[in-house]
Amino acid sequence: MTQRVEKAVEILKNTGVRMTPQRHAILTYLLDTMTHPTADEIYKALEGKFPNMSVATIYNNLRVFKDAGLVRELTYGDASSRFDANVEEDHYHAICMNCGSISDFHFPYLKDAETSAAKDVGFQVTGHRMEVYGICTACQKTTH
Ligand SMILES: [Zn+2]
Ligand SMILES: [Zn+2]
Repeated sequence: MTQRVEKAVEILKNTGVRMTPQRHAILTYLLDTMTHPTADEIYKALEGKFPNMSVATIYNNLRVFKDAGLVRELTYGDASSRFDANVEEDHYHAICMNCGSISDFHFPYLKDAETSAAKDVGFQVTGHRMEVYGICTACQKTTH
C-alpha cells in the first residue's frame, strides 16, 4: 500500500501539486482504506489528527486528486459523493442498501455493452458503470 501512496505522491509532484501533511494524510487514507469513503467520512477519520482541517479542505483535495486521475468520484444523485482510489484496475461495485458501503468486485469488463451502445444509439462511449445491490456481510450480521 505504501508503494501506491509513493506513486500517487510522485504523480501529484509531476502535475505541480505541492504536498502538505493534510494532503498526504487524505491521500494515504484513501489508498489504505479502499472503502469508497465520502468527504465526511474522511473528515471524521482525520479530524483528530488535524483539528484545524475543515470539510472544505477535504473537498478541495479530493478535487485535486480527481484532476490528477488518482481518484474517481461516484455520484449517486444525492449530495454524498463517494471517492474511489482504485483507478488502476477495472472493477464493479456492490452497494449495500442498508449502510451504503461499496465493495469492489471483479467481473470481466463488459466491453460488449459499450460496443452495443455505440452501434445501437451511435454513442461515442467513454465508459460505463455497473452496480449490484444488496446487503453487505457486516449488515447481515447485525440484522440477524
Ligand atoms: Zn451494509
Ligand atoms: Zn471501487
